[in-house]
Amino acid sequence: MLKTEYIKRVYDDLKKKNENEKEFLQAAYEILESLEPYIEKHPQLEKNKIIERFVEPERFVQFRVAWVDDKGEVQVNRGYRVQYNSSIGPYKGGLRFHPSVNASIIKFLGLEQVLKNSLTSLPMGGGKGGSDFDPKGKSDNEIMSFCQAFMTELYRHIGEDTDVPAGDIGVGGREIGYLYGQYKRIKNKTVGVLTGKGIPYGGSLARTEATGYGLCYFTEEALKVMKKDSFKGKTVVVSGSGNVAIYACKKATELGAKVVAMSDSNGYIYDPKGIKLDVIQEIKEVRRGRIKEYLEQVPSASYHEGPKGIWQIPCDIALPCATQNELDLEDAKVLVQNGVIAVCEGANMPSTLDAAKYFMEHKIVYGPAKAANAGGVATSGLEMCQNSARLSWSFEEVDEKLKEIMINIFHNTYDTAVSLGDPFDTLTGANIAGFEKVSKAMLALGVY
Ligand code: NDP
Repeated sequence: MLKTEYIKRVYDDLKKKNENEKEFLQAAYEILESLEPYIEKHPQLEKNKIIERFVEPERFVQFRVAWVDDKGEVQVNRGYRVQYNSSIGPYKGGLRFHPSVNASIIKFLGLEQVLKNSLTSLPMGGGKGGSDFDPKGKSDNEIMSFCQAFMTELYRHIGEDTDVPAGDIGVGGREIGYLYGQYKRIKNKTVGVLTGKGIPYGGSLARTEATGYGLCYFTEEALKVMKKDSFKGKTVVVSGSGNVAIYACKKATELGAKVVAMSDSNGYIYDPKGIKLDVIQEIKEVRRGRIKEYLEQVPSASYHEGPKGIWQIPCDIALPCATQNELDLEDAKVLVQNGVIAVCEGANMPSTLDAAKYFMEHKIVYGPAKAANAGGVATSGLEMCQNSARLSWSFEEVDEKLKEIMINIFHNTYDTAVSLGDPFDTLTGANIAGFEKVSKAMLALGVY
């Protein structure tokens, strides 16, 4: 519950102005509630209306994306880019292509991104974008047509020193290639205006793996410090089977754990012998198929309709890596009852706020998304460094830097939580640690 008059006022006003934006209000509430102790100690924030400015995006662009499908029919989608906060660096954040995308989803992701990027310690502001375009079932040619149409508008809002988008749900290496190709064609410039690029045209090694690997580096450090434990010998459940989930599964296995379940939006597979990741990769990355096809190659595993049931599987560590609000209070109770010791978030806002609070109250190691999944954007920041310097670092160099960044993010988050009196309240820890730098920059830059 909000306690201070100032924050109540800011939130009420936000609610009035954005009344139908459920996800945006959910993310804003979670952040504002946890910032209260910091705001109380820093009266200059209220005096300078920093919180009012912090929750209001600097710019929000919505645009039409018209393109032609394989039947020759014109299709119309809606495109978005929110440029949320540039006080510490150029806007940075992914593009999501999914039918559920709307202003609320883009703004929730953008606001979270501001704090996440600050936590990486790299100079990146926060942004996010995307479209309600559904890539599922589209031909390669249709994906290219859409991406080219999308960039034909987006290019005028972005730039290597202004706003640098990357991928997110539905936007992987293939889409980034088409988007970048169109940007180059329009601008006649080879610059680091997008990250997550392919290696032959300016991408960074280890960017593909970064969010999933980073999540595991964060979790391993958190387990070590908070539970004197590690991944070794643990049973792990990973939701999703996209970019984040696949590389989380890979690194958790390398660190000695056994991943027994993964999902997609239709259902989940349970393989008590340990997921065969090469089978998942072939289905998801090569064929773009459905996770139930796993059983064709591993008949001893089982498939269950509906993704939610995955949280019923007893595990030591849960890594939600699919989408927002995929894990609610009921799921949290089952996980805790089944003996989970850590829940770290690869997806953005996968746990509802009451689920997150339940974990923290029960002294579960909880890795909030903006800290635990920051490895993706951190490595995007490293890709920007390499592009500016016209250099390419080795996989090992990037991976080493990623690991160092994730360990630092954990300690920054944890130390802040400890200083506030509850080491398990990593949500407050992450929000305040991220906000401190942004608010100092906003104060220093004057009113804008
Ligand atoms: P992908 O598009 O690669 O994969 C998303 C996966 O989640 C797919 O397997 C999809 O299945 C599955 N999924 C979607 N909805 C559900 C659901 N309700 N239940 C179970 N599975 C579901 O996206 P990413 O892996 O890139 O992104 C996943 C999450 O991680 C998102 O929240 C994203 O914002 C976040 N993230 C991503 C980063 C990155 O670098 N890519 C960085 C930081 C955060 P289906 O095929 O059926 O749609």
